[in-house]
Amino acid sequence: MSITKRTYDAVIVGAGGAGLRAALQLSEAGLKTAVLTKVFPTRSHTVAAQGGVAASLGNSTEDNWHWHMYDTVKGSDWLGDQDAIEFMCRKANEVVVELEHYGMPFDRLDNGKIYQRPFGGHSQNYGQTPVSRSCAAADRTGHAMLHALYQRNVRANTQFFVEWMALDLIRDADGDVVGVTAMEMETGEVSIFHAKAIVFATGGAGRIFYSSTNAFINTGDGVGMAARAGIPLEDMEFWQFHPTGVAGAGVLITEGVRGEGGILRNADGERFMERYAPTLKDLASRDVVSRSMVTEINEGRGCGPDKDHVMLDITHLSPDTIMKRLPGIREISIQFAGVDPIKAPIPVVPTCHYQMGGIPTNYKGQVVMPKAGNPNAPVTGFYAAGECACASVHGANRLGTNSLLDLLVFGKSAGETVVEDIQSGNLRLKPLPEDAADAAMARISRLDNQTNGTDVHEVRLAMQRTMQKHAGVFRFKELLEEGVAEILKVAEQAKTTEIKDKSKVWNTARVEALELDNLIEVAKATMISAEARKESRGAHVRDDAPDSEEFPNGRNDKEWLKHTLWFSEGNRLDYKPVNLEPMNEGTKPIALAKRVY
Ligand SMILES: Cc1cc2nc3c(=O)[nH]c(=O)nc-3n(C[C@H](O)[C@H](O)[C@H](O)COP(=O)(O)OP(=O)(O)OC[C@H]3O[C@@H](n4cnc5c(N)ncnc54)[C@H](O)[C@@H]3O)c2cc1C
Repeated sequence: MSITKRTYDAVIVGAGGAGLRAALQLSEAGLKTAVLTKVFPTRSHTVAAQGGVAASLGNSTEDNWHWHMYDTVKGSDWLGDQDAIEFMCRKANEVVVELEHYGMPFDRLDNGKIYQRPFGGHSQNYGQTPVSRSCAAADRTGHAMLHALYQRNVRANTQFFVEWMALDLIRDADGDVVGVTAMEMETGEVSIFHAKAIVFATGGAGRIFYSSTNAFINTGDGVGMAARAGIPLEDMEFWQFHPTGVAGAGVLITEGVRGEGGILRNADGERFMERYAPTLKDLASRDVVSRSMVTEINEGRGCGPDKDHVMLDITHLSPDTIMKRLPGIREISIQFAGVDPIKAPIPVVPTCHYQMGGIPTNYKGQVVMPKAGNPNAPVTGFYAAGECACASVHGANRLGTNSLLDLLVFGKSAGETVVEDIQSGNLRLKPLPEDAADAAMARISRLDNQTNGTDVHEVRLAMQRTMQKHAGVFRFKELLEEGVAEILKVAEQAKTTEIKDKSKVWNTARVEALELDNLIEVAKATMISAEARKESRGAHVRDDAPDSEEFPNGRNDKEWLKHTLWFSEGNRLDYKPVNLEPMNEGTKPIALAKRVY
């Protein structure tokens, strides 16, 4: 069968904030650029981001990038690489102002400057008091941002392939990345995209969990494709549970609600965060707040007939503030919880929200992996940015509003690196290997020929329940061990999924089956990496790693201050050092300390 080939300078997979920001850099430099996306660009999950994008503009409270860097390193529980964190925090103001100049409709202060609100873990003077650092467009920041970036790309003539699903990465005999296979969802036909550079910006994979704030399309495709092509995945044990998903529905209530003054209360009406985080209280970082909530629920102080959630109270805010700053949240509460937050508190529980790990990159957006003694050797032709990538700025726990910032900074940076690598002649169009499309065609033809197989929805549900039970907010030694066996069993079932409808045109059953392959890679990586990490750090908290003087909060820096690398083949684990050195000589590293808020 002959397969259509298309040739570009660069192909970007994903049209969320990271993909669009990278595409802009390439198109504006005059490179022939294609962007593939499963959904129309402005439907990417970035559109759902509510609370804001971090930058130390200091518009209403004093601020600077050093404090932002300190907060981010501390938030990461020292697992973030300090060179990448310094790079991101220093670049923040530039990329946010740039976005404003692209037409992003930020809210304004009376003096005309960008409105900023406080967010969890962001502080002044190295953890002393909350700071207003999150630049917001009401509670629809991601929506405004994605539209501004999309329009700018239309202006730059970026070529979009909408409703195209990338299937597999193409690497040649040298291990260099030379293209990607993709299926047009409308026709079911597979094509090869041949390019000098491939940039992955495929977003997160929150759908491995049963309860998630993530869109249904967040199936970790880029991460799965990288894993199948022999690229390791970094720090996949670290998943963020957002404290405030609507109880029973999972839909997100932004941390911006607490930034505007919202308070968490237990069944006794007590503001319980005062006990867990005396300084930042409800604005402590997300892992800390989520665990405090689960502890309240486990100790019998949960609300409702089943005592299975807590309350987020903003009834003390003026209706005007709620209508002006949090209109979307009011709507979500009315629709999904049946309460008007002007009059009554919102029932909330921690819900899976964000993957801290992903495809390993450096701060230039180059994908890196161990080679000939170098743990961070770039993979020629391969770049990644956004939630699918691990730069690593979020380490073991991400601070709110640092993800939208990550998209802008590392989307731009990956774009700049590709432009440099192509214009300098470092990257050329290498020939496609003979078997370029084999991996993708084998997956499609297995689905076409499978009989007596397993059901895609049942296997996905089994995966989601396994992840929720065995790798949740708190982690237990036995549950993790059982979880590894369970998830490997589910992965076996995923090898024989069968779709009854074999037609080609708009076959969503086929798309879901192909997505499941990617979810399974992510789920295996998560469970196996989590079982192996015998300490508590950030979002990964184990019952058998208690707080002690030697191991603050259960963290063991002697043995575990290192990044996990999981290889799909043989489920092999490897580790690499954390970079504790900032980028610039003049910048002081943030020294290891116990994390308290
Ligand atoms: C409800 C919610 C609220 C949030 N609020 C905030 C916030 O206020 N501040 C903040 O900093 N962070 C927030 N986050 C996190 C942040 O929004 C995300 O981490 C970020 O938007 C991810 O952007 P991205 O560009 O990496 O991917 P996405 O925006 O998820 O886009 C992924 C893109 O990849 C494409 N794609 C995926 N697989 C394929 C494939 N196989 N082939 C072709 N295309 C593919 C998709 O079509 C899509 O275009 C929030 C997240 C959620 C879920």
